Amino acid sequence: MKDLAAKALEKRDWPLEQFEELTLVRSPLLKTIDTVAHAFTTRKGGNSPLPLDSFNLGRHWNTDESRADAMKNRKRLCDLLGLNSEDLAVPGQQHTNNIHFISAKNGMPPGPFHFPAIDAVATDRKQQPVLLHFADCVPVMLVDPSRKKICVIHAGWRGTAASIVKKSAELMCKELDCKPTDLHAAIGPAIGTCCYETGNEVIEGLRPTVSQSDSLVVYKDNSPHPDLKAFNAMQLLEAGVENIDVSSWCTACHPEIFYSHRQSAGQTGRQGALACLV
Ligand SMILES: [Zn+2]
Repeated sequence: MKDLAAKALEKRDWPLEQFEELTLVRSPLLKTIDTVAHAFTTRKGGNSPLPLDSFNLGRHWNTDESRADAMKNRKRLCDLLGLNSEDLAVPGQQHTNNIHFISAKNGMPPGPFHFPAIDAVATDRKQQPVLLHFADCVPVMLVDPSRKKICVIHAGWRGTAASIVKKSAELMCKELDCKPTDLHAAIGPAIGTCCYETGNEVIEGLRPTVSQSDSLVVYKDNSPHPDLKAFNAMQLLEAGVENIDVSSWCTACHPEIFYSHRQSAGQTGRQGALACLV
């Protein structure tokens, strides 16, 4: 059996794909599943003004104009994917490990849904788009094509330290009848070890979540650079998930393509990770 840590560190190049004026990236693994539409957006396309230029999807910027602009961009993305932006489920992310499940059976009215303090949304409802926002943190999608269930997860270091991805995989398997070996995971563009220097408190937070954690941290001049994508991949591998596709894109290395909180000292927009059962 291949060493788990070596597998967790594996990455693959996801090409930039042009759809009209929008540039997106998609997981080659998830693209093979025709019952799921998905996209990881970039900052390219749209008309958001500086410093949110130019396809900002986040409502975090505190002006009415930027919020209206983000709503317009969300609609643009949904239109492109053939989805209804009025049905979007958009959680209020707060670096928690809280997961919300939208059931096809629970009779909730159509969206848009805004859930406070939620960092993962799972659903078995068709035509229920789920959108989360990112600027360096790790976007993760879990899909069980057999049982037609999906989950979109926001995993910054705090969420990763709180094992949100492992917790999401466990919820899908224990409560939603999925099987780890049927789950397909995509881990999208996020800050890489190349750019992610942290304090030791981050490493202390991440270490207990997986085995072989030392293999997932690079030290440069004695300062740790954890591979956050690999920590999340390792959580999934240890939960029995085998089909994992990790993007090689580092958001901080490519500020012309992606929003990066670290690269911009916080003055920036948000890219999205959107998935929907179709
Ligand atoms: Zn980098």
